[in-house]
This record gives sequence, C-alpha cells and structure tokens, in this order.
Amino acid sequence: MPYYITTPIYYVNDKPHIGHAYTTIVADVIARWQRLKNEEVFFLTGTDEHGEKIEKAAFAAGTTPAVFVDSIVGKYTELWKILDISNDDFIRTTEERHIAVVKSFVKQLIKGGDIYKGEYEGWYCTPDETFFTKLQLVDGKCPECGRPVKRLKEESYFFRLSKYQGALLRFYENNAGFLAPEFRAREITNRVRNGLNDISITRKNVGWGIPFPGDESHTIYVWVDALLNYISALGWPDGIFARFWPANVHMVGKEINWFHSVIWPAMLFSAGIEPPKKVFAHGWWTVEGKKMSKSVGNAIDPKVIAERYGRDSLRYFMIREMPLGDDGDFSEKALAARINGELVDDLGNLVYRALTLAERFGGSISGTAELEKSLDLEGIMKCIEGLDLSGALEKVWSFIRASNRYINEKEAWKLSGEDFGNALYNLVEALRVISILIKPFMPGTSESIRKQLGIQAEGLDACRFKEFKGRIVKGPYLFEKVKA
Ligand SMILES: [Zn+2]
Repeated sequence: MPYYITTPIYYVNDKPHIGHAYTTIVADVIARWQRLKNEEVFFLTGTDEHGEKIEKAAFAAGTTPAVFVDSIVGKYTELWKILDISNDDFIRTTEERHIAVVKSFVKQLIKGGDIYKGEYEGWYCTPDETFFTKLQLVDGKCPECGRPVKRLKEESYFFRLSKYQGALLRFYENNAGFLAPEFRAREITNRVRNGLNDISITRKNVGWGIPFPGDESHTIYVWVDALLNYISALGWPDGIFARFWPANVHMVGKEINWFHSVIWPAMLFSAGIEPPKKVFAHGWWTVEGKKMSKSVGNAIDPKVIAERYGRDSLRYFMIREMPLGDDGDFSEKALAARINGELVDDLGNLVYRALTLAERFGGSISGTAELEKSLDLEGIMKCIEGLDLSGALEKVWSFIRASNRYINEKEAWKLSGEDFGNALYNLVEALRVISILIKPFMPGTSESIRKQLGIQAEGLDACRFKEFKGRIVKGPYLFEKVKA
C-alpha cells in the first residue's frame, strides 16, 4: 500500500525555527518507518511563497518578492539536508506545476457553482493574513497575535463553505481517525456544528499571488493556493495522483488545523475529490517556558542546535521530549540531560561495552536468545502506527537498559568459552535489532552501529533474534557528554 505523508508548506516570510524543524522531523520519522516496512512512500514538504505578508517583507528588505522568496527557500532546503530529512519532493507554490493546478482546481469550483462574487468587510490582520469578525477580536486586536487590525472592505470572490456543514459532519462521523489527536476532534466538530460562513478566497490589491481565473484583477487567497500543494505535487489529476491520493497523514501545527480539517476537505468535496485520511495537529514548543515570538526574540535556530549537539541528538530530543499532539518546552538544559543520560549512558555505553567484549573474543558468537524477551516489539509497532512516537522510543530505551543490565547481571566480562559466546550473541543481536528500530529516528547513529557490527541494512521484518553473521569492527563512542 503506497503511503503519502506531508508537512505543511512553510511560509517563507522568515527563516526556519524549531517549530518548522519539529513538524518536518516528525513526518520524516513516520516516512522512514513506513519505508522500513517496505512500503512505497511519498513524503512531501515545500514552501508557501505568495501573499501580502511576503510582498511586504520583500519590500522591507529592499528587493522583489521573487528574489526574496528564493533567498529564504534556500535556508529551508539547507536545513532539511542538515537534519537528514528524506523528503521525496519539495514543492514551491511559485512553480509552474503548482500554479497550473491551482488555476484548474479553482475553475472546477467555479464550474460547480461554489464560487460567487461579493463584498468582504471585516477586520484584517496583515501579519496573519486573516480576516476576523468583530466578535472574534480580542480588545479590538487580532485574536491570533494581539497586533492591531485594520478595517477592510473590498470586492472578493467567495467559496460556499456553509454549504458543506452537513457533509463535513457526516464525514467526521464516518471517519473516526480523520481528526487527530482525539481531543481536537471535539473542538473542530463543535465549531462546525455552530455553523460555517462562506469564505473570501481572493484579494484585490495583492499582486504577489496566482491570478483568479476569469478576473485577473484578483489573486487567489494565499491559503487556498497553499492547501492545493498536496495535490499539485502529485500532478493532479494525472501524474502520480491516483497512486498516492488520498494522503495518509497531513502533519500540521494546531494553529492551522482549521484550514486542514474544515476548509480543505470542503474544497475537495466541491471538486469531487476524496479528503485525506488523517489530519494530525501537533502542539507548540515554548522556549525556556516562554512562547516563541519575534518580539521576544527567543526563536531557536535549529541549524545552530544541530551543529552544536549533532543532528541525531536533536532529532531524538524533539521526538522523545514532546509526546505528539501535546505542547512541550525546548531548553538546552533538557536537551543536554537527554544526551548525557539516554544517548551517552544508555545507548552509547551499551554499544561500546558490548563491542569491547566482543573484540577480545575469538570463538563463535552464538547461543540461545535470552534477551529478546525484554523487547516489546509489538508494543513499539503499535505506538508508531498510532503516531505515539515518544512512546515508541521509550519502549526501545527500556530494551536498551535491559541490555545494559544483562551485561551486569551476567558479569559478562568474567565469562569464557560457550557462556561468553552466548552472552555476546545476545548483546550483538540486541544491538542489531536496536539499530533497525532507531533508524527512522536517528538514521546516522543506526548506520554507525550497523557498520560496527559489520552487517547489511535490514528492514523491520529482521527485528527477531536470528543467527549473527556480522564481522565486528568496534568504533569510537557514539555520543559524548555535553554541558548545558
Ligand atoms: Zn494577527
């Protein structure tokens, strides 16, 4: 079964921060896990490049939007290389393949009678590119960011979102896994039950966008444009669309859940396309207990962190520290604690101790599987399929700790002959299985263990103890202690 997973396409008004890194690492772990199962995977990320906010940021930087977006997109593609992200494609909304799909999709909505011309009047927050009704404002300011809003009245084309209230509610009811995690399902369903307003889908005075088919004095609202990346990258209605659609998961931050869980499926209903199978809204990172914001200036640059602590350490930390769906806090102190404890003392130490013992053994590394019973393989698989990535790592680590205990309890360094061979067999097989299980999370570390064991790369079906056929070449410590 082909597996299609996406991140949101990131808005290129500024360089990436740890929130972007997190969503992309999460999607990467899931994509890599599916590949370990031998599934055919399509993992998409990309950049959202149109709209008023970018137009303004470009002018503020003294350049044109086209030049400006190119310079920021480079920071994203560079970061994904640094973080070892295995995306199969990278879509930019300024690409011709995307623009063509947006135009033909909108034409289809027009043909279906779901677009009409009207006049929009409301309070507009420029940084968020969002209109609000008077009731939504908080103390007369933007409810999202607290900045001042301006009253705007302009001609606009509308999408009949209100028409899809019943269809959406039926869809949620019949597809229990669509809205995730579960506690967000209630939130979205209640809001949809309260009624939906038609939404403005064009802007009249924003030049940096895709022209609205039939009335080029309008450009398509940046959110409509952006959502369509999920099918434009597949070459809808041709290309690989039939092979990979509907997407298995759209991984998104909670702030854009509404667009993905309500507006997007309604747009797809209107065009006669099946909605994705799941929209998963993850939580937010605070930094040292404070909300990340431009004004506080506490945004964390993931590139700097990856270079200082290692990419695999950062990947491990982000997945392990914040259960998917919850909020979490980023601090270098917490990162260092996990590196020094779980990566150095548990994993790094196990590999080093086991291979030091194996190195001085001349006999055959074979015996009976004793340690395997400490591995909860089904539990790990269940966690990942249920997108509990942190829980899966916790279970892998309890196996790592059991393996360290095994060395102590057996007093392996005192053994000789067959008993020594048997203890080593259990340890190297444990390491082989661990190297497979951590591969989606820490691809580089996995490869380094595999190389030291002298074995070929294997898939998830090789996670049971079997005959050990490696040629061990011990390497240096995998991780080093760090100071926070
Ligand atoms: Zn705002």
